[in-house]
Amino acid sequence: LSRLTRLPHPLPSAAPHLPDDDVLLSHARRLDAQIAAGEDPGPFAGVLVGVKDNICTADMPSTAGSRILEGYRAPFDATAVKRVRELGGVVVGKTNMDEFGMGSTTEASAFQVTANPWDESRVPGGSSGGSAAAVSARQFVVSLGSDTGGSVRQPASFCGVVGLKPTYGRVSRFGLMAYASSLDAIGCFGSSVADTGILLHAIAGHDRFDATSSKQDVPDFQSHFHSVSSLESKPLKGLRVGLICETIDDGIDAGVISAIRAAALHFEELGCSVNEVSLPSFSLGLPAYYILAVSESSSNLSRYDGIRYGNQVYADELDSLYGGSRAKGFGSEVKMRILMGTYSLSAGYYDAYYKRAQQVRTIIRNSFKEALNQNDILISPAAPSAAYKIGEKKNSPLAMYAGDIMTVLPCGFVEGGHAGLPVGLQMIGAAFNEGELLRVGHIFE
Ligand code: GLN
Repeated sequence: LSRLTRLPHPLPSAAPHLPDDDVLLSHARRLDAQIAAGEDPGPFAGVLVGVKDNICTADMPSTAGSRILEGYRAPFDATAVKRVRELGGVVVGKTNMDEFGMGSTTEASAFQVTANPWDESRVPGGSSGGSAAAVSARQFVVSLGSDTGGSVRQPASFCGVVGLKPTYGRVSRFGLMAYASSLDAIGCFGSSVADTGILLHAIAGHDRFDATSSKQDVPDFQSHFHSVSSLESKPLKGLRVGLICETIDDGIDAGVISAIRAAALHFEELGCSVNEVSLPSFSLGLPAYYILAVSESSSNLSRYDGIRYGNQVYADELDSLYGGSRAKGFGSEVKMRILMGTYSLSAGYYDAYYKRAQQVRTIIRNSFKEALNQNDILISPAAPSAAYKIGEKKNSPLAMYAGDIMTVLPCGFVEGGHAGLPVGLQMIGAAFNEGELLRVGHIFE
């Protein structure tokens, strides 16, 4: 409520693409008809859903925040969008984002800057800043984002909403524009853990259009919420919580550290045992992530050549057509990353950079697995600071990259929101154990 009273106006800049009125009307008529016929219109009937603009929708443009795709309409809905729509959800807008997911502030969108609803002079985080800001401002009930290295969790933290990056493969990537394919995941935003879990349940599960989507059963996350008894005094008794000590170290804002320590105490009150755990490979996460992400993106973005998709700059020579279209269509952050990625994948450097980063990723994954053998969940801040000012880090990409230190590691869950600016707590669980994260998050909330 306090957030609502602070926000009498929605933030138009969070959602650049809105559907035509007749599309919305046809949704409303379909719902009416279903109800009149005595059919169940589904758990999302009439629920307003926002969709990040790199997730394809057939009835609205999908630009991934890039000029190169300005005006582009995909011929199909992404599987996640299709599933939400089948359950009655009404997609009312595509949300603003850093171009192709590359950024941490949403300032790298080719179209507009999105403000943070808690303080409009601050960034909402990124790259799914529009999806987070719109849920925080109550424009949408829930929204879809994508998280490669923090793009759901960090904006959730900055905007004080719940954000979930599911396990890789839990949700189909069909219709998600690829950034770094080995890390990309569609994620969920909501203003409560329960809403976020219900959205995850709607979109999760195997999809024959995405060979990397998992065949693991999708548990009924809702039953986790119902089984919680608020009367129990220690509802999380016996749960082993590991606080990653490298994440509450030098370089992290004192306010963030004290918020996380307060969260740790709250876990203890709920009956958990909280222990500090050390992950010595933690600091390798950021460099390994950026090598992997830029390398994979340089390959993925080669499809935007001015011929197959989006905008074209006409030229007599094929090379100048490619070059001209890309020079005009891509923003500077994207160009910089393509250059870095092309370099690290080139013949003489592949072993030293990409291959090495993959090896480091395995080391990090193993150390997380081990820590999750000894603990049921791990906790850390979601970001080293709260939301910073618009423009503050625009010209210092390395400082901005450094802000991703907590979230370049897979499978996390963020719960936001305390006095002043929100500070997100990240909870990390074992692969495919989102149900447990949701249960714990719901009780914690
Ligand atoms: N800040 C990260 C990056 O720029 C976010 C990536 C993401 O999750 N899409 O790469």
